Amino acid sequence: MDDGMDMRLVVVGAAGRMGQTLVKAIHAMPGVTLSGAIERPGSFALGKDIGEIAGLGTLGIPVTDDPLMAFVAADGVIDFTSPAATVDFAELTAQARIVHVIGTTGLSEEDEKKIAAAARHARIVKSGNMSLGVNLLGVLVRQAAKALDAAGWDIEVLEMHHKHKVDAPSGTAYLLGREAAKGRGVDLKDKAVKVRDGVTGPREEGTIGFATLRGGGVIGDHSVMFASESEMITLSHRATDRSLFASGALKSALWARDKKPGLYSTLDVLGLSA
Ligand code: NAP
Repeated sequence: MDDGMDMRLVVVGAAGRMGQTLVKAIHAMPGVTLSGAIERPGSFALGKDIGEIAGLGTLGIPVTDDPLMAFVAADGVIDFTSPAATVDFAELTAQARIVHVIGTTGLSEEDEKKIAAAARHARIVKSGNMSLGVNLLGVLVRQAAKALDAAGWDIEVLEMHHKHKVDAPSGTAYLLGREAAKGRGVDLKDKAVKVRDGVTGPREEGTIGFATLRGGGVIGDHSVMFASESEMITLSHRATDRSLFASGALKSALWARDKKPGLYSTLDVLGLSA
């Protein structure tokens, strides 16, 4: 609860790309304090000071592999890890009845169900992309898809990420695809075409296509194309710094602090939900 004190946050996966970015963002942001840093058993980071790992100097917070101990002394958890880890952490944040901000992507339907169950007790904010720009883009995509008839306009979502990314299409590509489907009044599950290979036949009307590029250090580029026989509209977003996702995650944590248990999204945080 908001008692005027700083919100105490634990970063899980603290030595990862987003983890280190989050540690730096918490250090720089008023109203939040880093109270714990978690990595998996066997990680190179265990016992090291997370400030040293993130390049901030000593913070007096050693990395541990004991999430429960850290969660009971915290108001919230920021989680950009892996699907299996996120599901385990959600059980613990439900037990501790605290805020859980989930940026992890690549969750299966089964994972999503477990997270929804945890949200009966935890205040969970989950989004494939925590940036204001992408969430606003989602709203614009929804509007465009509503205005442009499926008979005349084909929708394709294109994304590119760095070569270390392990899931595809990206969580953001799905987010944008879901908004397009919402605009069309259809379920993305019924309309998504995620892979094309070989003799595919002509494009089926009303489908929403995905294309994935991987390479170098690209943080996240997304475009949604609306193509007709005679013109094309492209709505796009480029992330140029990971701190963008970190500040969105911290804003989400602060927003959720006084909310009831439940499953929320960045659209709720930004007041952009339909
Ligand atoms: P990363 O560098 O691999 O970081 C993930 C960290 O989590 C690693 O340090 C990893 O440790 C750790 N981890 C995995 N399982 C764990 C466990 N059971 N307990 C504790 N720590 C564990 O990856 P990243 O680039 O930061 O991305 C992480 C996730 O965030 C991905 O799903 C990515 O798609 C997503 N993401 C989302 C957004 C958004 O806005 N929603 C933005 C950027 C990234 P090991 O290396 O030992 O496995």
